[in-house]
Amino acid sequence: MNTPTHVMLNALALSRGRWRSHWLAICAGALVPDLSMVFLYAYERMVLGTPERVIWRTRYFDADWQLVVNLFNSFPLIGLGAAIAWRLRSTAWLVFFTSMALHCLTDLLVHREDAHAHFFPLSSWRFISPVSYWDPRHYGWLVGPLELLLIVGGAVVLFRSEIPAWRRIARGVLVVSLVFVLFAMTMWAF
Ligand SMILES: [Zn+2]
Repeated sequence: MNTPTHVMLNALALSRGRWRSHWLAICAGALVPDLSMVFLYAYERMVLGTPERVIWRTRYFDADWQLVVNLFNSFPLIGLGAAIAWRLRSTAWLVFFTSMALHCLTDLLVHREDAHAHFFPLSSWRFISPVSYWDPRHYGWLVGPLELLLIVGGAVVLFRSEIPAWRRIARGVLVVSLVFVLFAMTMWAF
């Protein structure tokens, strides 16, 4: 799933009741699993100069990439973090790890060959979903527009929030999504 969609989905799902004011923990938890990939991508692209297609077709699947990505997408490690947060009675950290877990759960449903080993380090097993968020041969043609719909619909909901931070986040997600779409169109059109 695309990163802005994770932020919007987690915001809608978790910003309720007493967790409503924890916008920083919710957003951070939604972002962190993908930040490992953003870091690796930036390193490949800017430092090593690896072409776009080589990054996603070859480098993504290399063991060193997978280790870093799996560390930040691991249910056992997130569970451990959540247990410690609960024990220490830290609501912010509990919200953060719950948001991370929701990110991984939604990724699990829409990843195929690019699936993460979500049970690392206990198991390297990967769930190969019949649905891919990007591959048109596996409902990617449907998931993409649904993600956009969720972002636009979610922004409308967040714009009505009485917490100013959520209104700013809704604006930010909309802007980033627009840049994402334009970037994807130029990168994959050729
Ligand atoms: Zn992800």
